[in-house]
Amino acid sequence: QPSGYATHSPSGSESTLRIAWIYPDLLSTYGDRGNMLILARRAQQRGMPVETIEVRSDQPLPAVADIYLLGGGEDGPQALGAQRLIADGGLHRAVAQGSVVFAVCAGYQMLGGSFFAKGAKCAGLDLLDLHSDRGPSRAVGELAGEIDPRLGLPPLSGFENHGGRTHLGPGVSPLARLTTGIGNDGSSEGAWRGKLLGTYSHGPALARNPALADLLLRWATGMSNLPPLDDTWQERLRAERVAGVAAARS
Ligand code: GLN
Repeated sequence: QPSGYATHSPSGSESTLRIAWIYPDLLSTYGDRGNMLILARRAQQRGMPVETIEVRSDQPLPAVADIYLLGGGEDGPQALGAQRLIADGGLHRAVAQGSVVFAVCAGYQMLGGSFFAKGAKCAGLDLLDLHSDRGPSRAVGELAGEIDPRLGLPPLSGFENHGGRTHLGPGVSPLARLTTGIGNDGSSEGAWRGKLLGTYSHGPALARNPALADLLLRWATGMSNLPPLDDTWQERLRAERVAGVAAARS
């Protein structure tokens, strides 16, 4: 373990689930830290020892994490974060080793081939077959959609706030078909391939979509089933949001 990371590690054993949050100093808008907290909590509730690692943008990416998280960010920090992450090279190595990557909004755009920030085209990490440009207006508001049935999850809900629009190539699948909001392009939302998944959903996404958090935990641990948790409150909020936006549109 390189020194200098902010970590929280109760055990540090071989079976510890390691969650790395990439660049909280740059990519931390809209409460996306909550995604790390939710993953850690849901793993701990299943008795898994967890270590969370916060990787500032002046630090090298740790090679050991099972799950890497990227959050949202304004254009300037997003462009800087992409440059540093490309120069680091660690995320490509982690993906090649089978680590899980979950990326939100600016982080999601950064996983593609290119994106726009402050009017300039920026190179992305090219880990997902997609690219982003700018839309006619900012997409701000509730987001809801039916998730790819192969993932076996209930409908997605979230909050979006972005200027970019994302175009998927044949090498990725849309995460969801939208019922509300703009997402990628007004019809699909997010993308996934293998154990990489990106979304425009803040909220934070994993607090509002606990089944999505469990999918990432299953990918990271290789477990086909996880003991159920009491998600009454999260499910009530999700149902309320999905029903609320549907009612507001009719
Ligand atoms: N800067 C990007 C955009 O506006 C991402 C914004 C965000 O992460 N919320 O498209």
